[in-house]
Amino acid sequence: MKTMEEIVNYCKENGFLFPGSQIYGGLANAWDYGPLGIELKKNIQEAWWKKFVQEHEENYGLDAAILMNPNVWVASGHVGGFSDPLMDCKDCKTRHRADHLIEEQAKVNPAGWSFEKMEKFIKDNGIKCPNCGSTNFSEIKEFQLMFKTQQGVVSGEGSEIYLRPETAQGIFVNFKNVVRSMRAKLPMGIAQVGKAFRNEITPGNFIFRTREFEQMELEFFCNPCEANKWYEYWKETCMNWLLFYGINKDYVVFRDHEPTELSHYSSGTADIEFKFPFGQSELWGIANRTDYDLNAHMKVSKEDLTYHDPITNEKYVPYVIEPSLGLNRMLLAFICNALVNIEDRGDVLMIHPDLAPIKICILPLQKQQIDFAHDVYKKIANKFVCSFETSGNIGKRYKRQDLIGTPYCVTIDFDSLEDNMVTIRDRNTTEQIRISIDELENYFEDKFNF
Ligand code: ATP
Repeated sequence: MKTMEEIVNYCKENGFLFPGSQIYGGLANAWDYGPLGIELKKNIQEAWWKKFVQEHEENYGLDAAILMNPNVWVASGHVGGFSDPLMDCKDCKTRHRADHLIEEQAKVNPAGWSFEKMEKFIKDNGIKCPNCGSTNFSEIKEFQLMFKTQQGVVSGEGSEIYLRPETAQGIFVNFKNVVRSMRAKLPMGIAQVGKAFRNEITPGNFIFRTREFEQMELEFFCNPCEANKWYEYWKETCMNWLLFYGINKDYVVFRDHEPTELSHYSSGTADIEFKFPFGQSELWGIANRTDYDLNAHMKVSKEDLTYHDPITNEKYVPYVIEPSLGLNRMLLAFICNALVNIEDRGDVLMIHPDLAPIKICILPLQKQQIDFAHDVYKKIANKFVCSFETSGNIGKRYKRQDLIGTPYCVTIDFDSLEDNMVTIRDRNTTEQIRISIDELENYFEDKFNF
């Protein structure tokens, strides 16, 4: 696998990602998606939607607002008692999460501890700054995870609201709406893709951890007695999806959370971790959230969110199985996974054709074929994302397309104008075949799933 530095340079050089607000010197840990990055991101999102919504008759999509009634965050536990314990190393001036250091260095989960208890434990157990080894820490301060803003135009008079830190709550508050409007029966899933915002203490590793990111979450509502079955089902479905899209099976592992490590709402969580160049880290979290969230919303909103099974007449608060994936993290994993060096060819992005940012590149060999090539482009560009490349010799042009992962190149040469035939070059095999332009569309339709 390439190093992180090589991956970052690759993304910047080839139009995948740019530093946010670059002409103003940037904004720390903010990244903008360039022309290829946005295509790749859209494709990952589409591939996920296809598997987790479209292919499951019991699942539905949703697009909830980012700004929500602040009581949502009271119910979810994000407001009130849900801030992270933060402290500074007085020697090297780096900032750390006290609970993470305790967990990493003493293998003890301090969930629910007071700040005083953590401070004492850190002193008594010689917890060190991971950066410089010092034990000279500031006191622990509360850290607000959520971005706060104001609703209302007059400064100081508006009400305080938050940018959502996860998409899941938008789904829970719409559970009843979806059941009612879609006449849905359980088990049933609601999926959403959207932005989330977290005032992360230690953002970094490129787009792995940023303050603004996108999540792809499915909340799958089921009868509590079937929760374990669905938990296993969704774990397997997530892993299979990764392998189908070409993730190397040696790069991904399931890691079950220890009972002491579980979130307050979870009775079981497994992360799929990916071996990123900077280390093995969480890519996808699959959790059994039990009936925690719906119960919490019932309590605060006073709305009845129990489900009445029309067949068995049973009434219950559904359990929820949640596979939660970061779209940006997934994009980074796909690039780390696919960018390989091939002897005699250089770097090639061996990404699944469905995910490739550009599907087909049209290459007229000489100036005389440019008009013809534009016609070919127009013929297929309404079905496939195409690009047009005229500069450099053909070898260089193939190399450039290999580098960005374009699965097919269509070369138009002198003879094409006579016989209406073009050459298709396959990225994976470098094999070339010659076909009539009338067959192009059918040929490519077989090569992509969407
Ligand atoms: P981490 O332990 O890495 O902070 P988390 O356990 O807090 O992640 P969840 O709240 O379970 O993450 O969010 C679900 C998914 O959203 C994660 O598996 C990850 O892919 C993605 N995600 C979470 N935080 C970020 C972030 N700051 N930047 C990018 N992606 C994120």
